[in-house]
Amino acid sequence: MLKPLGDTAHEIMEKLRDGVGGVFHCPVETEAGFSDLTQAYNPERRQYLSSKLLAALGKAERQGRVVGVADVDLYVPRLNFVFGEADVLSGAGIVSLYRLRQEYYGLAPDEALFLERATKEIIHELGHTFGLGHCPNNRCVMHFSNSLADTDLKDAHFCSKCRPKIIL
Ligand SMILES: [Zn+2]
Ligand SMILES: [Zn+2]
Repeated sequence: MLKPLGDTAHEIMEKLRDGVGGVFHCPVETEAGFSDLTQAYNPERRQYLSSKLLAALGKAERQGRVVGVADVDLYVPRLNFVFGEADVLSGAGIVSLYRLRQEYYGLAPDEALFLERATKEIIHELGHTFGLGHCPNNRCVMHFSNSLADTDLKDAHFCSKCRPKIIL
């Protein structure tokens, strides 16, 4: 299940739902998340604390796994930013769309590329909720993305070693 956090656009959520469902070969639902992110906002960093939102998502009542999709910049204390984060115990993950757009880097918008990146990040965090760690195969969706170049290089799919570990 995908949940928009804050004011993530409805049409983006629908496209991501279709993208993620296509990889997992199962229906993905979107459901209202929470719109008020101020509890996680750090005015000094002008970013949102990822772990706080993830904990709130993990506690919310639901069936199955959930990934929150936030259109704000996320961080954890020792890093400048994070693309996403997941918690295997609660079966919850969170991704940030903020740094996935070409515009963020002063480039021309590319909607298809943006959606592809976001889909990969969501699938990656879902993989973590299934207990998967990072994969050494740089084409596998579970490969760690240090930068967007890594994200763009990898596929939206699990490699043959990771795939059997996903049990729906
Ligand atoms: Zn990861
Ligand atoms: Zn893999």
